[in-house]
Amino acid sequence: MKDCIFCKIVAGEIPTQFVYEDDQVVAFNDIQPAAPVHIILIPRIHIPSFDDIKPEHKGLMGHLAWVAGELARQKNISEKGYRLVMNCGPDGGQEVFHLHFHLLGGKPLASGYGRQ
Ligand code: 5GP
Ligand code: ZN
Repeated sequence: MKDCIFCKIVAGEIPTQFVYEDDQVVAFNDIQPAAPVHIILIPRIHIPSFDDIKPEHKGLMGHLAWVAGELARQKNISEKGYRLVMNCGPDGGQEVFHLHFHLLGGKPLASGYGRQ
């Protein structure tokens, strides 16, 4: 997808070190980390948001979730715990419209999820 930052990262047009990659998924450190571990996990294909998941993406989404758990174990944050976040749409705080998980951990995270 033209003009998508994360598609450019997948294509190597924005040089980014991957902390994980396979034929379906890549993961890299967030450029503005909110925690000691802050990894972005994305599918290689362009799906704009959680709202755009179709039945044919079910396997891919399961794989993405499994990779998130694997990375949490690799980064040694699974025992103490971590947070997996997916923002969807403007009210959900999504800024990059290429579906992604944030894997956050390595410190106690504030409780709650945007209560105001
Ligand atoms: P969102 O708000 O869409 O859920 O999260 C987008 C995330 O992508 C933000 O945490 C932001 O810091 C990160 N991000 C945006 N552009 C880049 C980039 O070019 N490289 C990396 N590594 N992260 C990025
Ligand atoms: Zn994209």
